[in-house]
Amino acid sequence: MVEKHQLEIERQMQDDEDLALRRLVLDGPQAGQHLLEETLHNLRVHEEELRAQNDELQQARENIEKQNNKNRDLFDCAPIGYFVLDDRLSIIDVNIAGLKLIGTDRAHVMGMPFRMFVDGNVRQGVDGHFSLVRAQGNATTESRLSPHQKAPVPIILKSVRLGTEWGEGWRCLTTVMDITDRKIAEETASRHSAELAITRDKLALIIDCMPQHIAVLDGQGRIAMVNKAWREFSMANNGPTNFCIGDFYGSVCGMEAIECPPELTPHAILDVINGRSSGISLEYPCHSPTEQRWFSLDISPLTGAEPGAVVSHTNITARKLIEIDARNSRDRFADFAKASSDWYWEMDTELRFTWVSGRFGAVTGLDPMSIIGKTRGSKISEIDEADLSRHNDDLYNRRPFKNFDYMVSTPLGRKFFRICGVPAFDPDGGFVGYRGTGTDATKIKEIEIQLRESKLAAEAANKAKSDFLSNMSHELRTPLNAVLGFAEVLLAGYDTPLTEKQRGYVDHILTGGSHLLDLINEVLDLAKVEAGAMTQEMAAVNLGSVIEECVSLSSPIFAKHEVSPVNEAVACNATVLADPQRTKQLILNLLSNAAKYNRHGGTVTISVEALDDHFHRLTISDTGQGIPIHKQDQIFKPFNRLGADKTATEGTGIGLALTKSIIEAMGGRIGFSSMVDEGSRFWLDFPLCDNEVESPAAVVIDGMSKIDSHFDNGLVLYIEDNAANVRLMEALFEQLAPMRLIAANNAEEGLNLARSSQPDLILLDINLPGVNGFEAIARLKEDALIRHIPVIGLSADASGSTIERARNGGFTDYLTKPVKLSELVRTLSREMEYKHVSNQ
Ligand code: ADP
Repeated sequence: MVEKHQLEIERQMQDDEDLALRRLVLDGPQAGQHLLEETLHNLRVHEEELRAQNDELQQARENIEKQNNKNRDLFDCAPIGYFVLDDRLSIIDVNIAGLKLIGTDRAHVMGMPFRMFVDGNVRQGVDGHFSLVRAQGNATTESRLSPHQKAPVPIILKSVRLGTEWGEGWRCLTTVMDITDRKIAEETASRHSAELAITRDKLALIIDCMPQHIAVLDGQGRIAMVNKAWREFSMANNGPTNFCIGDFYGSVCGMEAIECPPELTPHAILDVINGRSSGISLEYPCHSPTEQRWFSLDISPLTGAEPGAVVSHTNITARKLIEIDARNSRDRFADFAKASSDWYWEMDTELRFTWVSGRFGAVTGLDPMSIIGKTRGSKISEIDEADLSRHNDDLYNRRPFKNFDYMVSTPLGRKFFRICGVPAFDPDGGFVGYRGTGTDATKIKEIEIQLRESKLAAEAANKAKSDFLSNMSHELRTPLNAVLGFAEVLLAGYDTPLTEKQRGYVDHILTGGSHLLDLINEVLDLAKVEAGAMTQEMAAVNLGSVIEECVSLSSPIFAKHEVSPVNEAVACNATVLADPQRTKQLILNLLSNAAKYNRHGGTVTISVEALDDHFHRLTISDTGQGIPIHKQDQIFKPFNRLGADKTATEGTGIGLALTKSIIEAMGGRIGFSSMVDEGSRFWLDFPLCDNEVESPAAVVIDGMSKIDSHFDNGLVLYIEDNAANVRLMEALFEQLAPMRLIAANNAEEGLNLARSSQPDLILLDINLPGVNGFEAIARLKEDALIRHIPVIGLSADASGSTIERARNGGFTDYLTKPVKLSELVRTLSREMEYKHVSNQ
């Protein structure tokens, strides 16, 4: 720069000389003088300028020198090591930092090859580095120095070829930077990232094992990773194949959850990620077309350096279904409790109320809360002792109980509660108390009380009716007994032979009396059936024998109506379970109808067949008028006489009603079929008897023919208050001579007579005034003198209860008044026979 300026000044001076010379030539010596002076002046000016320029130059040189020194200082003070190398790569300059790096002083360094200070293992790399510098002017390489007596130092070599201003020949500036710290940091970082990777893998494994669907969101709310449950759920629901990785979670959730919860806005999600909200926790339905499902969703912020969040969806369907079920049960129970007229209660193990439903308050007027914590014991009264002890026994044994009634005084008055309860147990089977229902049973109880009272009244009325029947039976039969008995005696004509006319009158008395007796018997029987007082004495009955007897007994009525019996059951051996007397009564009744409602010259056919494993059927068919269809349903109703015009004098209209009641009471059945003008078939089905035994009803004693020699000298004592009956009995006994009858008209006298005369048999009227028959026999049985004498009870009362009582009271046998001669003979005959046998 300075030189250039000088050149310019010199050219200027040249130009000035040329001008002076031209003027000298052109203007002459004067002009030359002038020109010379002018030139000297110019030269002086130039000299001045030159001097000034020299000073300037000197100043510049000094500045450069200063700058160089400054540069050297900078070079030496630089924190990076600088090495200047020549073309043999020997060190020709080095700064202080460089010397420090290689751990030695300048004198040992200058002129030494740079590679000498490099770690032997990486020298080749350094050689390559400088080849690159030679080829392309610069290079950067990582390497390692091997400082004197120190551990190798990691460095970065950066070399650049220098220009000629750095001196003659090839020069290169190599900077050496110590990267020990960076290396340590890098190693730490890589170790950390390896550890992080392991942790991340472990975490991934752990969250893969979790049943929740989990996603990790990045700082922008995008899905960074999802767990196995998420992937599987997504696949099962045809979600995207990338499992939405990289998608904004807010939009994913909106897509997947069919009913996305409204709280879950993108804004809300970002608030969690950015720490503006502590998290989101909610439950939402997510039903699929095939399944009802619910999920709970939790979004929590990540607490690490990076913003983010963890999203977890838990399938809570099972819990929800249980909750729904529980709520339904609760609602259902609440509705039942609301709708019910009953109330519900719970008691603890000490049987103190822990809960009672609101209905209790409405029924009792008591505040339900007022009984909480109290036991029932203090409140109850009017309990049947037996019920209470049964109830307490149930409670003690923790058994369920039903319909325990008790009385409680309430603000609304006296109330009867009816409670049912079951013991309650916890899931481990531990007893926790009782729970159950309560009913206001006040009305039911009042009705029950009324019913009980009505029942007692009905029973009393029934008893009165029975007593009345029993009395009527006696009162009606006693005079009839006398009427029929004397008529029989008259007709027998033992001591007073009758004229034909008289015989006719007596016949009328007997027929009318018999009919009256039948009527009385039937009315009484029916009354007994209605009063429930009819008793059955079931025994094995041989139907064939009974039929034979009945046909025989019915011969007068067959004769009267001119019908012929056809007994097809003669050889029948069917044995049924029935009351023998009643069976006879039924058959006689049907035979009588078959005769009465037959045509003259018609037939009555009797047959027996085995119906099935349970019944024998006895059929009685007639060839009579039949029963019109429209009347058939009335046939078994009492007092229904269908053919009143024709049979007015013969029927009572009770027979079939009674027959039906009796056969059914014996476990049998009755039925019929009938055709007008062709006839009727009535059948009785008798239950079968397992034992084929001979029935007592089979014994038929034909009048006097069976009286045998055991009657000789027999003495019978008859204790009877009714004089007419005594006279009748005396008349009968006259026919049984030489058997003798003695009589007494009351119990006292009778027992005395028995003691004194020791009769073979006593006939004792049961309905004696004063000491009655039962008391009399009791006394007799206490008396050793007479207790052995057989006693036959006599009464007009044919009710089962009286007969039963007679049997139990010690009577040997029992005869119903009016006593028929044949029955008397049979009974006496049996007793005498027995006495005879036992005396032998
Ligand atoms: P009673 O014979 O005393 O009138 P029943 O109860 O035995 O009473 O019979 C009721 C009615 O049924 C009879 O009055 C009669 O009209 C009708 N009846 C009963 N048996 C027959 C029969 N075998 N054939 C036609 N009618 C009958």
